[in-house]
Amino acid sequence: MGQKILLEHANVPGIKTYEVYRQHGGYRSVEKALKSMTPDEVVEEVKTSGLRGRGGAGFPTGMKWSFIDKKSGKPRHLVCNADESEPGTFKDRYLMEYIPHLLIEGMITSSYALGCNQSYIYIRGEYMWVYRILETAIKEAYAAGWLGKNILGTGYDLDLAVHCGGGAYICGEETALIESLEGKRGNPRIKPPFPAISGLWQNPTVVNNVESIAVVPWIVNNTGAEYAKIGIGRSTGTKLISASGHCKNPGVYEIELGLSVDEFMNSDEYLGGMMDDRPLKALIPGGSSVPILPAHLIFKNAEGGDRLMSYESLSEGGFASGSMLGSGGFIVYNDTTCVVRNTWNFSRFYHHESCGQCSPCREGTGWMEKVLHRIETGHGREEDIDLLWDIQRKIEGNTICPLGDAAAWPVAAAIRHFREEFEYHVRFPEKIKDKDHFVHEPFEKVRHLVAKQTV
Ligand code: SF4
Repeated sequence: MGQKILLEHANVPGIKTYEVYRQHGGYRSVEKALKSMTPDEVVEEVKTSGLRGRGGAGFPTGMKWSFIDKKSGKPRHLVCNADESEPGTFKDRYLMEYIPHLLIEGMITSSYALGCNQSYIYIRGEYMWVYRILETAIKEAYAAGWLGKNILGTGYDLDLAVHCGGGAYICGEETALIESLEGKRGNPRIKPPFPAISGLWQNPTVVNNVESIAVVPWIVNNTGAEYAKIGIGRSTGTKLISASGHCKNPGVYEIELGLSVDEFMNSDEYLGGMMDDRPLKALIPGGSSVPILPAHLIFKNAEGGDRLMSYESLSEGGFASGSMLGSGGFIVYNDTTCVVRNTWNFSRFYHHESCGQCSPCREGTGWMEKVLHRIETGHGREEDIDLLWDIQRKIEGNTICPLGDAAAWPVAAAIRHFREEFEYHVRFPEKIKDKDHFVHEPFEKVRHLVAKQTV
């Protein structure tokens, strides 16, 4: 059983309420930080912990905090990014729904460290019931004196508000989130300036993911050095993983980083193996935007070493044979999955969610969706596969925000690892048109058929 930091009390009845949360040691980190530590000491503990942003990018949180402009004299803000919208990712929802006070405690301790007196939680519009849970928890925290003026008599003031977004995936990008919080359309800003210098209302701002903030109380209570002992190498601590798809036990898990993918996939403590014991065909380890891995690269990397649940191990081999830990959205696919249909589905999503500011993303995502739809429905042309490859290459790295890359990578990886399946769709349209697309020919048979076919 791995160490539990975030979900230690998740199953305690009533932990959602202030009283029960407090009985289980809640808000201790606020007392410790405000009464016995300077803000810089809290920042140092987070730096020492090696905590990396849990939203997907994995940037060191303490370093991000140290970039905030303290010299300008402007008000500073901490904004919690709870706009969890990446397909396959639902771990922040779980945390906020079941242990809302953990996030609020983290917001207070982190705001103190950053010198913020007005902080926000920006939650996605579709999580309306969670928004209400957070509102209730914030009211309880105000009533108990953890928020407001002169907290614990220390002279520190903090107001915290929760803001509900309008349901746009792009608002998970930090500058789009800031625009939206200011009441504008959620278009990403061109960087620099970075939010740490000019963010919300041009004030220095730090935007952190829910999970990153929720772990700060543990770090303050137990020290950054203790946190750094958990995990492996530069992947310190634990990570929430939201598992879905064709596994026996989908759900949200807290794992110690460094756990083997094999153990996570197959042990009864975690996913318990494949649903109905069907063969594993592919895996997306970090949410829809990271590259899909074919079965032979899931448990072992290209050199034959064990694949671990860590930032480094999952990306071993680069995009040629690796993927990314990303947001921890672990999507399992069995042999009945049509990779072309899955890729088309993702492309449809990214096209729909593109804000339209830059041409490669606005036009490219729509173009990819159209071509993928053509191939999937049995109307594809042989040259369409190379066309798709060209489009995704022209999007990657040529856009204002990472949505362009997020749209390009799944297409590139699907073609790289499952090209025969695309060719099969093009060369055997009669098989595609007549079939229930979710029950596909086994990939080995597809490979065989395509190999036999002369163009
Ligand atoms: Fe908008 Fe896409 Fe450009 Fe991001 S990459 S700014 S979502 S058009």
